[in-house]
Amino acid sequence: RKFIFVTGGVMSGLGKGITAASTGRLLKNAGFDVTAVKIDPYLNVDAGTMNPYEHGEVYVLKDGAEVDLDLGNYERFLGIDMTADHNITTGKTYQHVIQKERAGDYLGKTVQIIPHVTEDIKRRIREAAEGTDVCIVEVGGTVGDIESMPFLEALRQFASEEDDDDVLFTHVTLVPYSKNGEQKTKPTQHSVKELRSIGLQPDILVGRSDDKLEAETKHKIAQFCDVPDAAVFSNPDVPDIYHVPLMVEEEGLDEYVMERLQIDGEALPKEER
Ligand code: ADP
Repeated sequence: RKFIFVTGGVMSGLGKGITAASTGRLLKNAGFDVTAVKIDPYLNVDAGTMNPYEHGEVYVLKDGAEVDLDLGNYERFLGIDMTADHNITTGKTYQHVIQKERAGDYLGKTVQIIPHVTEDIKRRIREAAEGTDVCIVEVGGTVGDIESMPFLEALRQFASEEDDDDVLFTHVTLVPYSKNGEQKTKPTQHSVKELRSIGLQPDILVGRSDDKLEAETKHKIAQFCDVPDAAVFSNPDVPDIYHVPLMVEEEGLDEYVMERLQIDGEALPKEER
């Protein structure tokens, strides 16, 4: 089984979820059974109690789970039905670990974020991925947030427990323009530095910007982030988010991912996608 972890840098609301869902869609088109997990690093157990004016509409899954709207994107992009198990929150994980502690399940041990919470996070990811070929895991929030730390640490451990070609990290960042119209890579460099400081090296970089990344911008990002130029992709503004999978396909994201994960897609003819 293959895992694609999607993190975000610089700021939230960049289109990390859409990038993750698009990657999943392209793999589905290539014939794989794809599922997704959304990690929300907040202490709410689920989104059911959240103010829709502040958080956006709550999305209700088939099993009645009240979750983030992102899960709706995954269901639509991947053509699947998800359940409560596909949304991992800090609240859900801590609640479970604390309940186990009260029941004496830890046999007198000191219960800690590492290893007990991180073990629970890894278990949830593996269980949600059961029976599929590829599981896309999106970490909500931005790298560097205190809230995301236990999750990123769990992903670091997860990657070291799996084979190199079974796990891939995609990092989505902002590529802004300077006043003279130049694409700036510094925010991306800083964000990757932050990611590396916690032991994660991205395999793929996706730059959100007004327009496609120029070849020179890609080269600069590649150099600073230690990836080949071919591992840097654009996610420019489009009028309709359903164009994003086609756009990243044009740049060869699906082929790059499949090569990196050593999987061979039995691509469906274009008209059936
Ligand atoms: P994040 O997961 O980084 O918070 P989302 O994937 O939820 O971001 O996207 C944030 C917003 O940006 C959504 O409203 C989404 O529809 C929009 N969006 C994402 N990608 C694009 C794009 N390439 N062009 C235009 N809008 C986009």
